[in-house]
Amino acid sequence: MASANNEDKQSSAKRVAVVGAGVSGLAAAYKLKLHGLNVTVFEAEERAGGKLRSISQDGLIWDEGANTMTESESEVSYLIDNLGLRDIQQFPISQNKRYIVRNGEPVLIPSNPIALIRSNFLSAQSKLLIMLEPFLWKKSNLSKVSDSGESVGDFFQRHFGQEVVDCLIDPFVAGTSAADPESLSVRHTFPDLWNLEKKFGSIISGAIQSKLSTKKGKSGKLNSSSTSTKHQRGSFSFLGGMQTLTDALCKELGRDELKLQSKVLELGYSCNPSENWSVSSAPMHNKQSDKQSFDAVIMTAPLCNVKEMKITTKGSPFHLNFIPEVSYLPLSVIITTFKKECVRRPLEGFGVLVPSKEQQNGLKTLGTLFSSMMFPDRAPSDLHLYTTFVGGSRNKELAKASRDELKQIVTSDLRQLLGAEGEPTFVNHFYWSKAFPLYGHNYDSVLEAIEKMEVNLPGFFYAGNHRGGLSVGKAISSGCRAADLVISYLEYSSHDRVSNEQPC
Ligand SMILES: Cc1cc2nc3c(=O)[nH]c(=O)nc-3n(C[C@H](O)[C@H](O)[C@H](O)COP(=O)(O)OP(=O)(O)OC[C@H]3O[C@@H](n4cnc5c(N)ncnc54)[C@H](O)[C@@H]3O)c2cc1C
Repeated sequence: MASANNEDKQSSAKRVAVVGAGVSGLAAAYKLKLHGLNVTVFEAEERAGGKLRSISQDGLIWDEGANTMTESESEVSYLIDNLGLRDIQQFPISQNKRYIVRNGEPVLIPSNPIALIRSNFLSAQSKLLIMLEPFLWKKSNLSKVSDSGESVGDFFQRHFGQEVVDCLIDPFVAGTSAADPESLSVRHTFPDLWNLEKKFGSIISGAIQSKLSTKKGKSGKLNSSSTSTKHQRGSFSFLGGMQTLTDALCKELGRDELKLQSKVLELGYSCNPSENWSVSSAPMHNKQSDKQSFDAVIMTAPLCNVKEMKITTKGSPFHLNFIPEVSYLPLSVIITTFKKECVRRPLEGFGVLVPSKEQQNGLKTLGTLFSSMMFPDRAPSDLHLYTTFVGGSRNKELAKASRDELKQIVTSDLRQLLGAEGEPTFVNHFYWSKAFPLYGHNYDSVLEAIEKMEVNLPGFFYAGNHRGGLSVGKAISSGCRAADLVISYLEYSSHDRVSNEQPC
């Protein structure tokens, strides 16, 4: 009897289609399912996970997409706790030891502003600029600064000078988005810093003041925040790699709820209460499509893929030509292992980033993660496992190079930086033609186009890394937010239908 009731409930529950089984789509589906909704996730590829992609082979474990994430967003804590992943969270050994190349050699990045001022990492002039920043940047002198479309490079140059841009910001943005400071819009890339400037003028004093006020707020709330702060211990992965997270999300979905090799080709909104949305999908390179109906849709496919879809509303085409061209950055990820005795200057820590300027010292990679230093279970004890990135906006052509050419480039850079001698004992190469969307100067128009779709298509919501941030945590939070919006939309629309009973 109870199971018949459950089945009734299931069949009468609203149906939601989620397009894309990356981390944002899977997080959205998980939240919807917990809420009792019927969900179907459509994924074009034969595997779920999107940019989370972990491989385990011959005693090695590596990630070809995201390598670590942080827990700054409450939705991340929610997922880790609910999925029971706390015990298999892996924190890198010595994660605060991170290096940036200066004059051809890796230099430890001072771990806090005081250490930075005390170190020789920057010139005396740059250190002076940093110390004076709270006095030089007042809210009152912001009127001279153009509000729209300032680049990350110009923003940091204004506050801290060119050396900080070249030596810190350039390698940081290359390492987190494969972009360069000049192409990125500061408002979209660092919205928190952009807002601090608007509010306080100085980024440094703004950061200090807002930290103090957050602390005050937290102490007023007594214990309520102690659990969330306890978990914020920097970057982490999971036993088995980052894909453990998306695999755990997939396990929560039933067999019929995750449709792999199901590329969504068409979406139609009909305004018919029993069949609001129809979704047509087909395996790649197969014209035989399958059609299903839903009450709402969460789209998490990259915008370049959305543009290829055919959307209709009440039988008429809904043209997507208002979506501007988004630039994507290509990236190659190269995994190498070296016998430990062949690496003369191994460094303990997280990894090393290479500023663009270091190309003049012969270095061509964007950076290398010391994967087995961070997570010793990722390789046998006699090997070092490295994850190196090549390409991005710095060198789009090189990202596409052959495995052999990339192997040579990586071997040469690791020889110079770590004293890795001879050939690697293992090489793996993965090429992402569209690793990251570029949050460029036109990004306002991209976000406006996303909003336009949502406004004009009832029950259609967009989530994923094209909106609100590129990190895994931000993608999760975007997916969960879309799920909340769908839940409210469905509650509101069924209530509205009952009370109004009027045609669309
Ligand atoms: C090499 C690399 C390293 C990274 N490193 C980090 C890191 O260390 N830390 C960090 O926080 N972030 C990192 N990121 C960024 C982060 O991994 C991504 O931004 C995030 O995982 C994106 O998730 P998503 O769900 O928005 O999109 P995606 O993972 O891109 O998922 C979208 C899914 O939609 C599917 N799809 C597309 N079209 C269709 C269609 N028509 N029908 C059905 N399905 C479709 C795609 O196949 C894909 O699976 C990295 C990214 C890359 C590429």
